[in-house]
Amino acid sequence: MTKTFERTAIVTGASRGIGRAIASRLANDGFNIVANFAGNEKAAQDLVQNIEQLGGKAIAVQADVADSKAVKQLFDIAQEAFNGVDALINNAGIMKLSTIAESDDALFDTQIATNLKGSFNTMREAAAHLKDGGSVINLSTSVVGLNLETYGVYASTKAAIETMTKIFAKELRGRNITVNAVAPGPTATDLFLDGKPKEVVDRLAKMPPLERLGTPEDIANAIAFLASPDGHWINGQVLRANGGMI
Ligand code: NDP
Repeated sequence: MTKTFERTAIVTGASRGIGRAIASRLANDGFNIVANFAGNEKAAQDLVQNIEQLGGKAIAVQADVADSKAVKQLFDIAQEAFNGVDALINNAGIMKLSTIAESDDALFDTQIATNLKGSFNTMREAAAHLKDGGSVINLSTSVVGLNLETYGVYASTKAAIETMTKIFAKELRGRNITVNAVAPGPTATDLFLDGKPKEVVDRLAKMPPLERLGTPEDIANAIAFLASPDGHWINGQVLRANGGMI
């Protein structure tokens, strides 16, 4: 494992899927990792163990990102463990698909709470605590461009996150902190695969000119670039990582 500098990243939703790949990749790039999870402690501890076995530093921290008090604690624990935070990766998210006509209040409220309020909660803490020179990377979705049926509420939470990304980048003027969003296309994780018939998965996988699903590592690569010194001139942008789907 190459350790060129000591920096710390909070990765929300790091226990599974894309978040886990991001945490592993950033650890490999030399970041200490604060691996947040909601309920899956075993998976989060397994990630921490993997990182430590490779010579990195990591802690697992339970926090529901929708809960502002829990998010404050998450930052306090990170601060105490690693003496500050350099990068925030807002990855935790849920997806519940339904037409707008058939969406009930719970479907709307839970996605707003986890995806939008969750990202807001962590960005507000980051404004207070992130070290100068740091970076914030929010997870959006390429469905914001595709506008597919049944994604109405989910994609709207992510469209709002893209808007907040651009405004937050301006509000942090003078601190040399970048704020960007990465918008994946279909990526092989529980969130995308659960409940989808094979024909639907195959059809979506064929949509990008590169004709496959994204992997969590494809997305982690893009995020690692934005969190690295090489990506630091990119600010206030949305990067669609989707094999050319849109
Ligand atoms: P997964 O369902 O595979 O993993 C979700 C992760 O988020 C888990 O670690 C889960 O923790 C955590 N999580 C869920 N709710 C909360 C919460 N309230 N507080 C803290 N953590 C929470 O999802 P993906 O890896 O696929 O998605 C990651 C991000 O990428 C999401 O924001 C998603 O919208 C976005 N995205 C995904 C795409 C895809 O095709 N997969 C495409 C475009 C965007 P636990 O294990 O404890 O439940």
